[in-house]
Formats: sequence, C-alpha cells, structure tokens
Amino acid sequence: MTTQLTTLNAAQACIYTRSNLSRAFQEFDDTGIVDINLRDDTCIVVRTDGSEQSYPRETIKTAYQSYTNRLKDFFAYLGPNYRGPSIWHQNAYIMFKGWNYTHSLGHLTSNAKLQAHWIDKFIHLSDPQKVTTLLQSDQTDLGHLVAPDGLRLPAGAIDFNIDSEQESDTGSPAAEPYCSCGSFQRQLANLSDFQMEIKGYKPGCIHLTWFYKYRELLCHRTDVRNKFPGGSPDTCVAWWYAPPSDHIRDGRFVLLHTKSGAQAPLSHWRTYKPKEIFTQHDAWDLFSNMMDAGYAPFPGTSLPQLASAVKKNGN
Ligand SMILES: [Zn+2]
Repeated sequence: MTTQLTTLNAAQACIYTRSNLSRAFQEFDDTGIVDINLRDDTCIVVRTDGSEQSYPRETIKTAYQSYTNRLKDFFAYLGPNYRGPSIWHQNAYIMFKGWNYTHSLGHLTSNAKLQAHWIDKFIHLSDPQKVTTLLQSDQTDLGHLVAPDGLRLPAGAIDFNIDSEQESDTGSPAAEPYCSCGSFQRQLANLSDFQMEIKGYKPGCIHLTWFYKYRELLCHRTDVRNKFPGGSPDTCVAWWYAPPSDHIRDGRFVLLHTKSGAQAPLSHWRTYKPKEIFTQHDAWDLFSNMMDAGYAPFPGTSLPQLASAVKKNGN
C-alpha cells in the first residue's frame, strides 16, 4: 500500500463528489469537508477537524453511474400534447423537457411557449450546433439533441458509393449514442479519464436512458395493437395526467380501462384501482403492466366521449 495522494482528474472529480458519497453511503455526513482524494482503492474524505475517513472507490463509482443514468418519470421529456422526441436530421431527435407537465401552469411558462413555437421548425435547420444553441442556451432551456443510435454525418460527407453504405453504418465511431446535454458532453470530453477509472466506460445520461425506455414502450404498444385485427384492440386503457399545483405535491395519474374498444361510450369504462392514488412516478410501471395484460394505452385527451370522466377523477 502506498501513501501517495493523488490529485483528481476530470473524471474522478465528477465521480468522487460529496453528492455521490452521500448516494453511496446513507450515513455519510457531507458537512465540514476540506478535501476528497484517492489512495489505492479507497476514497479519502478529509474533515475540517483534521480527521479522515476512507470509503471503497467501487461503491462510489456504482453510485455515480446509477445516478448519471437514472430513469426520470414518463412526463419528464414530453413536449406539447404529450409529444415524444421528434425526428431531426443525422439520425438525431429533438427531445423536449417536460415543461408542460412540471406544474399545472407549466404550459404558461416561457420555455413551454417557446417549445410550442419551435416544435415543427427545427426540421428546417440543418446545423446541429445551431439547433443545440436554440435548445439549450443562457436564454433557453427547451431540451436536447439526442441520437440514441449515434449521429450520422450529413449527406454531403457520406461516401456516395451505395455499395459501401452498409459498411459505413456499422462499426463507425459515429454509431455511439450521443446527447447534447452538459453531462454527456463532459463525459465525452474526458472519455479517456473515465475509461481509466471505470473499465469499458461508455458515456450516458438521463436523456438517453429515458429515450431507450420510451422506445421500449412504443414497441410494446405496437406489439399489443398488432395482436388485434386491423390493429384496433378491444382491451384499451385511457390515461390522463394532472400536473401538480405546487412544487411539493406530485401530479395525479388516472387510468380508465375497457374491453369494448377505444371508441366505447363512457359507461363501458372503469377506473383502474379507484381507491389508489397514482402519480407521474407510477406511469412507466402502469403502462408496462397494462400492456403485459394486453391493454393498449391511449391518451384520454384523444377520446372526447370520456371528457366528463376526467373532471370527476381529476384533482
Ligand atoms: Zn443527455
């Protein structure tokens, strides 16, 4: 065992933070810290009183990775009218922050209004830098440019030989997932430091995690619909979401289900577990359970015959 202290590199400075120490060790006291450094396989925390405690590096790395790639709720990255990521150029998507769903007045925020204004206009821009600046600048916080299957070079830069197309699509470095957010870019810029610290390290972020989960949900929904003739299922679930009216409470997530098809009158629908209260944090699991049971989800707002039910159920 050596006693030499090391200075943290860019990756280590992201991993061995007081927040990640708190995430890794429940009893961790994050006050009165003067220094955090590394010695062999331990992380040393130096306190103002001169005392030191050591923690296993491995546990902090795990906490860092699960926090960096954590799954945010279903509404966290939906644009206006529950719109998911919109296809852009270069195999990338515009992914909006869920400003409309953070608060019952969320749709009135300047960010939500800018989203509504820009949502169909991004496609007319072709420069990723310009799009990124519009999405995330000092003035705007609309969302991110995300490419879960990797950014593809603009048409002009692609080899025009059609035979080589397949080859250029696979195995090229551009096929790595991409996100324009600060966290992902920081990992990309210091990738060799991260890979030295965590073997086989791949950059990730909350946006990519959410995107994968959302895509899984869409595939699952298609499977459910395809089991019915003409793709219109008898077993349907309609959902509504009422964002919270303050920053303390959660929103309300309400589901109605039927076996008579999406167009069935209100009398054919039943509230799902009427005695339980569901929030935005239950949405992923509820969608998944419903679809496992063969129910196809529909936003309640697309089924006008159910409009009066929401007022009854809403908070
Ligand atoms: Zn991201």
